[in-house]
Amino acid sequence: MSYRTEEIAYVQPAEPAAGARAAQQRTTAEYRALDAAHHIHPFSDMGALNRSGSRVIVRAHGVYLWDSEGNKIIDGMAGLWCVNVGYGRKELANAVYRQMEELPYYNTFFKTTHPPVIELSALLAEIAPGPFNHFFYCNSGSEATDTVLRIVHRYWATQRKHSKKVVISRKNGYHGSTIAGGTLGGMGYMHEQMPSKVENIVHIDQPYFFGEANSSQTPEEFALARAQQLEMKILEIGAHNVAAFIGEPFQGAGGVIFPASTYWPEIERICRKYDVLLVADEVIGGFGRTGEWFAHQHFGFQPDLITMAKGLTSGYVPMGAVGLNDRIAKAIIENGEFNHGLTYSGHPVAAAVAVANLKLLRDEKIVERVKTDTGPYFQKKLRDTLAHHLIVGEIAGAGLVAGLQLAEEPASRKRFANGGDVGAVCRDFCFNGNLIMRASGDRMLLSPPLVISKQEIDELVSKAKNAIDATATQLGVS
Ligand SMILES: *Cc1c(COP(=O)(O)O)cnc(C)c1O
Repeated sequence: MSYRTEEIAYVQPAEPAAGARAAQQRTTAEYRALDAAHHIHPFSDMGALNRSGSRVIVRAHGVYLWDSEGNKIIDGMAGLWCVNVGYGRKELANAVYRQMEELPYYNTFFKTTHPPVIELSALLAEIAPGPFNHFFYCNSGSEATDTVLRIVHRYWATQRKHSKKVVISRKNGYHGSTIAGGTLGGMGYMHEQMPSKVENIVHIDQPYFFGEANSSQTPEEFALARAQQLEMKILEIGAHNVAAFIGEPFQGAGGVIFPASTYWPEIERICRKYDVLLVADEVIGGFGRTGEWFAHQHFGFQPDLITMAKGLTSGYVPMGAVGLNDRIAKAIIENGEFNHGLTYSGHPVAAAVAVANLKLLRDEKIVERVKTDTGPYFQKKLRDTLAHHLIVGEIAGAGLVAGLQLAEEPASRKRFANGGDVGAVCRDFCFNGNLIMRASGDRMLLSPPLVISKQEIDELVSKAKNAIDATATQLGVS
């Protein structure tokens, strides 16, 4: 079945009139007081946050957010890497409304299914690369990671290779914040607060050239050496004990770290040689971020399993999924019951939003534009503006995602001793300049909505430069 519709040129939707917006219910001070009194934020120091007060975001449109004080903010992060089609798309709101009236909920556990999950699965099979024709649904990227572990272990059980239990991931990788996601991820600050972890998970080093290569290595040599750590780790553990390797094609939360071209082909070769499943965490990379539908296509390798979330629904409602290639799907399908599921697996409203979202990305040629037009423009603009900046050591990225390395001496790759503080200072300058740019230690991250126009890219990059200039001035670098 084909879903191709007429070619539709992308037109930025008009902003709704002020009168069409709901009146703000409370003052900023009231919102802040209630938030401080009752709301625990994720990944936050609540004592510090409650003393300074949160910024209250009340509405959004296109690539812009508005706070409760009426400030207009350009969102350089697409929410949390997720609002790929931009804010305020009526098609998605209508999909929710129609589906809620028609069938707000039904499960798919006991011999039932429903049209939205069927349409979504068929559409994903069209969009995803050839071998991906089967999809399992959940509600988040973290649950997709958990689901991957369940599928990997189930797969090896069906192959009668019960000793294959160890999953290898990377330091400074991010795979979510459930216990399994947090264990698989390589974030030390998360591990510290997780005294019990999931067993049979080990980590190798990340392909972070700027921070971890020695001075004689080229990026290609370094990336190859880091990939070969996987082979050493497999040999150390014994290939008969290793079930899978999981990695983000480029690390997102870890700092938008793009490995050199030698990395993924070597990882793929090693996984094939030792019969280790290769899992690509596509939660950020999926749905157009690099200009390809999936980031593993950008890097040119073929995983066995892919995780998805974020851009799947452009964040309008929560949904995650795992794509199984034909070999894994066959094993799961032909071997009896797979004992895993979530009440909201394939939720009809989320599925309806995902279908509407994917059709926008495809039919408005948003992904193609990232590849051929806005992505190259963004990358060039960043480099033209910041490549020779006194405290910028590296600009990494492709399409509409970038990591800017702040450094004390860019040429010698000398990092700031207090890099995390420098990143936080820069992020605060952005925030005060009405730009959302995130910091990961001493790297500044950009990942705007995929519908951003060239004019908006100019604004984004110029605001980013202002914040980095202000950071340099505060540090006394000039
Ligand atoms: C955000 C993220 C996750 C976790 O997704 P949640 O929806 O926050 O649970 C997993 N993997 C990657 C690569 C992510 O960026």
